[in-house]
Amino acid sequence: MGTIKSFHQHSIQDKEAFWKEEADAVYWETPFTKVLDDSKLPFAKWFVGGRTNLCFNAIDRWLESRGDEAALIWVSTEVEQERTYTYRQLYQEVNAVAAMLRAQGVGQGDRVLIYMPMVPEAVFAMLACARLGAIHSVVFGGFASVNLAQRIDDAQPKVIVCADAGSRGGKVTPYKPLMDKALQLCEHPPGKVIVLNRGLFEFEPVAGRDLDYAALRAEHDGAEVPVTWVESSTPSYVLYTSGTTGKPKGVQRDTGGYAVALASSMKHIFNGKPGDTFLCTSDIGWVVGHSYIVYGPLIGGQATILFEGTPIRPDGGVLWSLVEKYKATTMFSAPTAIRVLKKQDPALLKKYDLSSLRALYMAGEPLDEPTAQWISDGLGKPIIDNYWQTETGWPILAAQPGVEEIRTKFGSPSFPVYGFDVRVLDEQTGQDLGPNQKGVVAIVPPLPPGAMSTIWGDDERFVSTYFSSIPGRQVYSTFDWGLYDEDGYWFILGRTDDVINVAGHRLGTREIEESINSHPAVAECAVVGIADQLKGQAAVAFAVLKDPRVLDLPGAALKLEGDVMKVVDEQLGAIARPARVRFVTALPKTRSGKVLRRAIVSICEGRDPGDLTTIEDPGTLDQIKDSL
Ligand code: ATP
Ligand code: MG
Repeated sequence: MGTIKSFHQHSIQDKEAFWKEEADAVYWETPFTKVLDDSKLPFAKWFVGGRTNLCFNAIDRWLESRGDEAALIWVSTEVEQERTYTYRQLYQEVNAVAAMLRAQGVGQGDRVLIYMPMVPEAVFAMLACARLGAIHSVVFGGFASVNLAQRIDDAQPKVIVCADAGSRGGKVTPYKPLMDKALQLCEHPPGKVIVLNRGLFEFEPVAGRDLDYAALRAEHDGAEVPVTWVESSTPSYVLYTSGTTGKPKGVQRDTGGYAVALASSMKHIFNGKPGDTFLCTSDIGWVVGHSYIVYGPLIGGQATILFEGTPIRPDGGVLWSLVEKYKATTMFSAPTAIRVLKKQDPALLKKYDLSSLRALYMAGEPLDEPTAQWISDGLGKPIIDNYWQTETGWPILAAQPGVEEIRTKFGSPSFPVYGFDVRVLDEQTGQDLGPNQKGVVAIVPPLPPGAMSTIWGDDERFVSTYFSSIPGRQVYSTFDWGLYDEDGYWFILGRTDDVINVAGHRLGTREIEESINSHPAVAECAVVGIADQLKGQAAVAFAVLKDPRVLDLPGAALKLEGDVMKVVDEQLGAIARPARVRFVTALPKTRSGKVLRRAIVSICEGRDPGDLTTIEDPGTLDQIKDSL
């Protein structure tokens, strides 16, 4: 483990030398004069004075060596289409879109809001913004009008690019009416809306405002738009956090630092090289999609697969069929997707030739040991749990096989990633904690290249939200609990607001969930603390079964509840035993697949669940209510 540790140490102790070297992976039109300006911490500027462009690094730079190689592979199991764009074709599409945005007056620093499903045109629009030095704000497709209106008012875009509709699991979701409604609700509607008409939903364009994507595309066919070189700290995009715990925050990202961080991560974390093929099943509306569907793979000269569909349609083998067909070398998914597959026929894992695949990376929520074990056994490939946040833009904790091959431990996202001076701190005293001591996971500033520069339009909130919660120290709080063991492996133990207090004992809901997940009948579960007159709080568990038919026999639910409690008793002790275990067919989750514990607690305590705009399926809350 010597290499990975010394690599990390070097990155923290000799920041400037370390990042100067990493910055070579990026094309700079004008070299930077200073690696780091940390004179105004917690604000940090990387690669000061350097001028570059994300689109140039993602496309133009590869034209000579990879012009005829695949850059973007689009597969839609929703509309039954597949299309491959070479680097040269991607260049042409992006230039045409850049020209059409420019014709609408979009220039450097202007915002463009993108509200699109997983279609190539969404990627073109993002890269076109980057080409122009404009700032994109991608809003996850299908978010309701209220979310959309808030985000429009926050970023005040000059132009919006949207589609008539998306499709999920074979069901069409109209986007255009949601956009129309949002534009009525918001205070700062833009003048122009470019609409991609996929022929999925019939709509009436608004005269003078709505423009047809295809018509503009034809008008600007063959256009070439010169790259706008921007200073490294120039914002590249704004992206809102998932809103699992509260009001989403507009994360502002720079340009140069982000390019360097992604380029270096493609090498060191993903162990990749130009010509590889990357399959990331996230959505372009999330940070994982920004970094590892769009920018990272292209900056690394790889082909990236853009998949519009769900992991179980036409069947639970669809992702593996993509790996086989396109010889994907690297795959990136989320535990929530794998838990969905756990409910499918395990033989599907063996049906396809996965020999091209080197590893499966997973992030977004805790990867519980049973799920990790299940997928590891099924694939026979390394499973690389990596921990990060919208705010950081790339992994904080991960195995880094490009630096050194290490043994991983299930349940652990391994080690701190170079550049992140990450610590476990005592939440009361702010002191650094040692091995096996649980505390708040924090990062000593400066945040590394690629991490958020500030909250869009609100520097003050950036400092007060992230850097003011640990007593006596101005450090970045992740608001997650964690620890590292005697071997230096880190473990994330849940969010700081997910700790419950049962008769004076502080329990992490994540630990109880892990334990319940180890019961063979359980696919996934959520544990919350509910007000209890006697004990302060009581743990209540909601579990989804791999096969709900086991509940069909009379008395089966009661017996299974007892069995689950017994598992927790044995693994964690009776104090952690949930007071109730209820079975539901789905958990309330955000649209990015994270469990909304806050909303479950409110329902259980008979309160109004509050802001539910990020929930995927409101019906799941009724199930919670009914199960009690
Ligand atoms: P909000 O901040 O708006 O409440 P969010 O935190 O869900 O939303 P994201 O930035 O998408 O928004 O998610 C980051 C969080 O996801 C982390 O802080 C952590 O709680 C969780 N997470 C991500 N990856 C992992 C992982 N590998 N293991 C454990 N937890 C993870
Ligand atoms: Mg968060």
